[in-house]
Amino acid sequence: MCGIVGYVGNRDCVPTLMEGLTRLEYRGYDSAGIAVVGRSGDLRVHKAKGRVGELAAGLPARLRGGPGIGHTRWATLGEPSDANAHPHTCGTIAIVHNGIIENAEELRVKLTAEGAQFTSETDSEVLAHLIAAAGEGDLESMVRRALSQVVGTYGLAVIDARFGDRLVVARNGSPVVLGIGDREMYVASDVAALVRYTRQVVHLDDGELATVQADGFRTSTLDARATAKRPSLVDTDVLSYDAEGYTHFMRKEIHEQQRAVERALRGRLDERFHTAHLGGLNLDPRQAREIRRVKILGCGSAYYAGLLGAQIIEELARVPADAEPASEFRYRSPVVDPGTLYIGVSQSGETYDTLAAVQECKRKGGRVIGVVNAVGSAIARECAGGIYLHAGPEVSVTSTKAFTATAVIFSLLALHLGRIRDLSPADGRRIIAGLRALPEQVAAILATEDEIARIAGDLAGYRGMFFIGRVRGWPVAREGAQKLKEVSYLHAEAYPASELKHGPLALVGPEMPTVAVVPDDELLDKNLSTLGEIKARHGRVLAVGHTAPDAKLADDALLVPRNEPELDPILLSVPLQLLAYHAAVSLGNDVDKPRNLAKSVTVE
Ligand code: GLU
Repeated sequence: MCGIVGYVGNRDCVPTLMEGLTRLEYRGYDSAGIAVVGRSGDLRVHKAKGRVGELAAGLPARLRGGPGIGHTRWATLGEPSDANAHPHTCGTIAIVHNGIIENAEELRVKLTAEGAQFTSETDSEVLAHLIAAAGEGDLESMVRRALSQVVGTYGLAVIDARFGDRLVVARNGSPVVLGIGDREMYVASDVAALVRYTRQVVHLDDGELATVQADGFRTSTLDARATAKRPSLVDTDVLSYDAEGYTHFMRKEIHEQQRAVERALRGRLDERFHTAHLGGLNLDPRQAREIRRVKILGCGSAYYAGLLGAQIIEELARVPADAEPASEFRYRSPVVDPGTLYIGVSQSGETYDTLAAVQECKRKGGRVIGVVNAVGSAIARECAGGIYLHAGPEVSVTSTKAFTATAVIFSLLALHLGRIRDLSPADGRRIIAGLRALPEQVAAILATEDEIARIAGDLAGYRGMFFIGRVRGWPVAREGAQKLKEVSYLHAEAYPASELKHGPLALVGPEMPTVAVVPDDELLDKNLSTLGEIKARHGRVLAVGHTAPDAKLADDALLVPRNEPELDPILLSVPLQLLAYHAAVSLGNDVDKPRNLAKSVTVE
């Protein structure tokens, strides 16, 4: 969370920093600021509560120079305010920070006793004071000495007006990437801020520092051992970071799903053996057969995609599989079993809780693979193998195309594991045909957007609603409720349809509608009975499935094309994304920057 950007080179860095901050705003947006070393070697800072646009509107003309650093904040400690906005300064030093310094209070007391004067409530400000107090030497060794006293996570960028030719950056738990230009260098927390300027990037590892100058960079560990880094090429389309005429990134990304599914499938279907090719898994058939369980770990929508994945893995591969929030797993001293395949799921590949869960599995000797969208991200690098989504960058805070692509990847993995075990060639062929049909079917659902928008407008008038589904429909209901909550702020609670009568039915009535995921599968009759129970209490029902239930059982229906039962959940999730989007739009919400949320949760 939060965006960091920096520049060192011959140009005035302010336009580059502001452009970078605009690209990073989805990572945090409660306040923003920049600091530059002015032409006369002085430090110049401008920061304010609010959006990057507001910061840009108030930029003083004297704010020119370089090197410079910028930040968009997602507050963890100290409310959003001008004073708490980054950069934080001490004398000639300015820093921007992403993460949480856990021993900030202790350090603050110590530094105050030594005469430091704090101007904010943030944990981050201690970093500026620590670096300033770190004695003589070059900026890198000052930063190194300061960080040796710090407990916590950071992506950090530092400038010092006395060293007007460099930036120093450091990473521990929060991403930092360097962008290599032509006699100029960029730094950022996310390639989104860099791709307009360069395709050559270097990802720092945890525990690494870098001194970055116009003509190059030098990396080392916190204990001053030099490290060797090889630049990699980002092959992202710059337009992915533009709304391209759409009112919101969320809608744009919903509409990109046909392509996202095509890309997730590309080159991975094996018609000859009716299976899936997953080159990066690094599991030979014998190892794959030895897997006795699958455990999927993710947070938020990645977790819900994992629930969907566990279902299809169990169905096709007949391996016991489940999903658990990575944020819980890492704290509960989990039993890590060598016969289990652990799968860390994260769009950004930087989700801190998921990364920590992956590390915990590895530390205990578990076999972990990643299902990740961002190439070269921390989780991708931490895992022994993995599968990239290839969904393209996802900018909207709430996940849509990455969710769908993750579900497709799990279907491929289920097919692969299934065909190594007992899934028949005929079933393999059936699933491949289903996967091939998905992109067009997604497009067909998107073509019904107007009808979904109409229903969403109606439902937005209620205070909250239930989402229900059975077995395959249950993860769909959970993700549907999550989407609605995130962007419409309406209360949405997901229940297994089978559980409704065991408690929540008490809340059903004319004021509490239910969105029911009711595909035409072997459980349809059971689901229709549940709808009957709701209608008997005068609850409004929106059915999402393949055929419209009798009017006595549902007030409205959103229909999706039929695929194979195992793959239907992928398609059933799509109308629920549009439902959430249009409910939020009709309520006038800022869909791409939902209240209190931010993309890439890189803090604990
Ligand atoms: N902990 C810092 C703050 O609250 C950084 C938050 C962030 O990552 O945006 O200012």
